[in-house]
Amino acid sequence: MKRIRKDSLKEVLKEWAAERTVIAPRRTERGECIYDTFDEESFTLDIAKPSSPPKRSLFPQSEVIFQVEQDGYRQVVSGNPTLIFGIRPCDHKGLLQSQSFMSQDLDDPYSRVKSEKTLTVVMACPGSMSPTCFCTTTKSGPWAESGFDIQLYDDGDAFLVEIGSERGSGLVSSNRFEDIDEARANEKIRTFQREAVSLIPVIPEVEDAMERLEVSNQSSDEVWENFGKKCITCGGCSFVCPTCTCFTVSDRVVAAGTGDRIRSWDSCLYAGFTKEASGHNPRRTAALRIKRRHEHKLLYHKDRDHYGGLCTCVGCGRCSDYCPVHIGLIEVAQAICSAQDGTGEEKRYSGGVS
Ligand code: SF4
Ligand code: SF4
Repeated sequence: MKRIRKDSLKEVLKEWAAERTVIAPRRTERGECIYDTFDEESFTLDIAKPSSPPKRSLFPQSEVIFQVEQDGYRQVVSGNPTLIFGIRPCDHKGLLQSQSFMSQDLDDPYSRVKSEKTLTVVMACPGSMSPTCFCTTTKSGPWAESGFDIQLYDDGDAFLVEIGSERGSGLVSSNRFEDIDEARANEKIRTFQREAVSLIPVIPEVEDAMERLEVSNQSSDEVWENFGKKCITCGGCSFVCPTCTCFTVSDRVVAAGTGDRIRSWDSCLYAGFTKEASGHNPRRTAALRIKRRHEHKLLYHKDRDHYGGLCTCVGCGRCSDYCPVHIGLIEVAQAICSAQDGTGEEKRYSGGVS
């Protein structure tokens, strides 16, 4: 086992950045924590839960996938050696799930090549990073079980370093990483994990709602109608979600005879997302679209998580944090249960243990 002193981290990041693009948390002038290209000045370890997951590293908000030239076209598959530092376990699982989803039926070279060239340095959570964290419910945290290159556990003035892959071993070869006693380090990690789990609430309604949807797709239409009346169709829930991968394609003329085909994030909450060429729209109301979104998280694709997660929500809580009208996955799960039990209406989730 290795350890790295926190005051050596910037030097390590600079070394890593000499060989690849490093995406790391940084504090913006407005005080927000975001993932961006490593910058020594604004780099921060005080990251809690950054407002957006780093999914754009594998699935950019907008990217050119084809270029058309006078007499032909060429596919544009880009991907540079990249390292994502400080990714939270839920967001890391979101990357794994998204990649699994994107490559399930057909090869998606655009995200696959980026994924193959990306190293991940996960930072295990010592407890809830915000009142809406529920990774212990979705089995996606507070530490990563697999699929990472290295994982860091906070140990005061240093991090304990768990190596998860051969590429991870290569990352810790510099003498800034000190060897430490394996047994003692493992004991510290077990203590860290025990305490972390005890500090993150389990939300039983999430699994309960999954079962109710599974049994006979039991969910009251009234629940979806109520949420549909409130939703302002901003799409924010999709854009902050680590496992949302809806996209659209558009074409842009660059000059006479040349152009680009661009893939951009889309949202299944948008009215036009499922509109067919005939004009028919199978999800014509916000209620139907909200229902569909949550069925995708709670009912479908469970078997597509090869990493032991509960469903294709990784419990980051961002939809509860950012939906302007409080339609987060927690609120939806609770509303499904309370509507069936006749115990009340949907209400904003105000957080558990933090
Ligand atoms: S559905 Fe909500 S809580 Fe679940 S992963 Fe997406 S943003 Fe996070
Ligand atoms: S964030 Fe809320 S209001 Fe916006 S589309 Fe999603 S559910 Fe609707």
